[in-house]
Amino acid sequence: MDQEKIGKFIQEKRKEKKLTQSDLAEKLNITDRAISKWENGICLPDAGTMPELCKILNISINDLFSGEIVDMKDNEKKLEANLLEMARLKEEKDKQLLKLEFVIGYLASSTFLILIFVASFVQMEAWLRIMLIVVGLVIFAFGLGHAVKIEQVAGYYECPECNYKYVPTYKSVLWSQHIGRTRKMKCPKCGKKSWQKKVISK
Ligand SMILES: [Zn+2]
Repeated sequence: MDQEKIGKFIQEKRKEKKLTQSDLAEKLNITDRAISKWENGICLPDAGTMPELCKILNISINDLFSGEIVDMKDNEKKLEANLLEMARLKEEKDKQLLKLEFVIGYLASSTFLILIFVASFVQMEAWLRIMLIVVGLVIFAFGLGHAVKIEQVAGYYECPECNYKYVPTYKSVLWSQHIGRTRKMKCPKCGKKSWQKKVISK
């Protein structure tokens, strides 16, 4: 940020509004020395003063930081590009997460099965058998809990009735019937209970 440019911009806008430094200071309830400091590029207005200052000078916060009026067209284009990029990054991250869910689910289930198998068919003392089963159950529960958490937050579920896409609560995902990642849940928008499909993009 160019403090000097911002200072000159504030001064220019203040003069356009036919305000003296003390007029502006009075409106903002601060000293005129502060205004003079901004205009000379010594310091920036503090965050609490900015909204009111912008309102008085009829500029946006974006304009203030840029030290000039930002072209609305460019502004929107930039914002749009940023939003698209953010959506793309989220989709990519969600895809990775869902892969991870598969791996966690697979590892937890197979470890569980192996431990139960060993506990059932290998000769050992009773306490060891019980311990293996308990450890197996803990790993299974932990893995499952984790996998469900991922499934809840990655991407969205789509209601087939009204096409609403949403992120459900952990509880509703955990306790719902499911076939793969398609779950029988209540749509928060239309309230109908139906098979909601997992989708990555909104
Ligand atoms: Zn719905």
